[in-house]
Amino acid sequence: GLVKQPRKLQALLTENPEVAMSDFRVKSILVTGSNRGIGFEFVQQFLKSENPPEIIFATCRDPESPRSQELKNLSTKNPNVIVIQLDATDPASVTSSVLEVQRHMNGKQLDLLINNAGVLTHNNLESETSEDMLNVYKINVVGPMLVTQAFYPLLKRAEGQRKSAIVHISALLGSLEDLPKLFSHFPVISYRCSKAALNMLSRCHAEGYKQDGIISIAIHPGWVKTDMGGDQAPLTKEQSVSKMIKIITTLNEGQSGTFVDWEGNIIPW
Ligand code: NDP
Repeated sequence: GLVKQPRKLQALLTENPEVAMSDFRVKSILVTGSNRGIGFEFVQQFLKSENPPEIIFATCRDPESPRSQELKNLSTKNPNVIVIQLDATDPASVTSSVLEVQRHMNGKQLDLLINNAGVLTHNNLESETSEDMLNVYKINVVGPMLVTQAFYPLLKRAEGQRKSAIVHISALLGSLEDLPKLFSHFPVISYRCSKAALNMLSRCHAEGYKQDGIISIAIHPGWVKTDMGGDQAPLTKEQSVSKMIKIITTLNEGQSGTFVDWEGNIIPW
């Protein structure tokens, strides 16, 4: 039979020629879970990019932890990297992070929000628990919901203004259609359910914020060597994040509401 070719995100451009120009520019960024793993790599690579953003809000839930030392060192050397405490599951923490960002922005808007913080627990159908289901949902879904809701006023655009974007770091394991391929190796029930729900949240943001000039997408970073991904993972953080940055910095309205991987292949829901 015919081999099904993955649809490319770029193909959406030719389908929507009127929006083929990238209509957003990244001058200010906020990343959650940026003290290690993929989040920290985003901060480092944006900083080193040809056209670095003017300001990067590198948030993490515990800036005083040894796990955040590397990020703090980076911030000491680079005044445009601002470390802010943000526990995505704690409404008070989310609210105070918005106030701190506003203080730095002086009325300026935020261009890009990367909801990256997330957890993975290894439970199968037998070992899964109520507590774990709820905890993983809280971090992986309620977190991005609260953070996006709180930063919406800074992301919102008036007509004719440049777009802003929300990037949800999702996972292929949240794909319903793809499930049979990897289920036996990675049952991870709470994680799969949470990422499927995160994809829905991303669609809701794309639809609900369309009038506000906000683009929303869900990206699968690939299987990446991090504390979560482990040593067996085929991709390095550098490889994954550099490709994701290419996708993010050329985003446009026609691509909002999609679920793609780090190479721009559209992933079936
Ligand atoms: P890591 O485990 O290396 O890092 C996770 C990050 O999330 C840490 O910075 C952690 O902070 C933070 N975090 C966890 N809970 C919270 C919270 N309540 N509030 C704020 N921050 C929190 O994971 P990765 O870098 O690999 O993963 C990043 C994202 O990529 C996740 O959403 C993950 O699901 C996704 N992903 C990763 C894949 C991979 O192969 N690595 C594959 C597919 C998706 P702290 O240090 O304080 O714990």
